[in-house]
Amino acid sequence: AEEILRVSGLSTRFFTQEGQVNAVSDLDLRIERGEVFGIVGESGSGKSVTARSLMDLIEPPGEITEGKIEYNDPDLADAVRDDYPQAVDGEYVDLLEVPADVRESLRGTSFSMIFQDPESSFNPTLTVGEQLAEAVEVQRRASARPRSTRAKTQDYTLASFALSTVLPSREYVSEESRERAIELLEMVGIPDPVERADEYPHEYSGGMLQRAMIAQALAGEPDVLVADEPTTALDVTIQAQILDLLAEIQEETGMTIVLITHNLGVIARMCDRVGVMYAGEIVERGTLEDVFDDHVHPYTEGLLGSIPDLEGARGRLQPIPGNVPSLLDSEMEDRCYFADRCPNAMEDCLDHPPEYDADGSADHEVRCVLAERDYEESRALPEGYFGETE
Ligand code: SF4
Ligand code: MG
Repeated sequence: AEEILRVSGLSTRFFTQEGQVNAVSDLDLRIERGEVFGIVGESGSGKSVTARSLMDLIEPPGEITEGKIEYNDPDLADAVRDDYPQAVDGEYVDLLEVPADVRESLRGTSFSMIFQDPESSFNPTLTVGEQLAEAVEVQRRASARPRSTRAKTQDYTLASFALSTVLPSREYVSEESRERAIELLEMVGIPDPVERADEYPHEYSGGMLQRAMIAQALAGEPDVLVADEPTTALDVTIQAQILDLLAEIQEETGMTIVLITHNLGVIARMCDRVGVMYAGEIVERGTLEDVFDDHVHPYTEGLLGSIPDLEGARGRLQPIPGNVPSLLDSEMEDRCYFADRCPNAMEDCLDHPPEYDADGSADHEVRCVLAERDYEESRALPEGYFGETE
């Protein structure tokens, strides 16, 4: 299948008072058009920073320091080829090589994001319908413009986007956009959408507001929806309904979804392929079958130690003994970051393992020495190297 997103060597750092934090390191992802790609890991593994990096939402003291985020869009490639030839590779555009306003122009129409907390996506002083209509309106005006102009102007902002709620000027909002807002509410399964459109966010239940946020994210008919723990805050029944809704929308629209979660039950239910994150790296990546049945990385094994089903309260991951390593650059050692907790650690693990091709197809990638060599042949670790082991 065609790749819609190619992420290569992406590193995102935070320059804090305590020092440099390597939140995401040398991350590679290949996302195919129309798939649901899952990113799973414990909290603090870099999942949300990855999502925010994709959406260009990293703010100081954070910074994407390296890598490429290439988006497959022939029209965009044509529009920017003359001005930013270094950004273009065939039909792909490296979003980190074009100015911020070009990236901005893609928000909502090409990329949208939903969050765990829908309140952050809505202005409490405006009705849900007004805000959706505004989102539709902004996207409509943006796409009415020829791409080359769109890519070079800054005079529109993204309403479908959280955190930067745009105050609507009602006179701008056409009847058509209002109707579309109601359609969107209906599409995400809000009962009595005409009446509910006139209600304020606080009048919605958590699940309903989550649906409304999805509607808002869909206003610009994005190609890629990045969903960061979209159901974590909801109770299990509602969680299942929201996941079903996302699956349905994906099916109908062919949209690509990048789904970020700590819950393997959610991954198993929703995803085609999955990347397992640990300490800011993807340590294993493959199809559901690769990762659930044929995994190689001991961390994946640990995560699967107890696969939470969706009914198990919030599907918490079984804790793996030991601590997540510090991501402070000064404290990170250049070896496998899982070595302190790995039951298979050996001397070879003192070198930082590169990604290996586990089965020769390059679809299943594992960052662990076990993927490359027979464990039995490896030399044992020097006694006490990692301190006390349990
Ligand atoms: Fe364990 Fe070594 Fe693999 Fe790291 S590289 S996960 S320490 S076996
Ligand atoms: Mg998170």
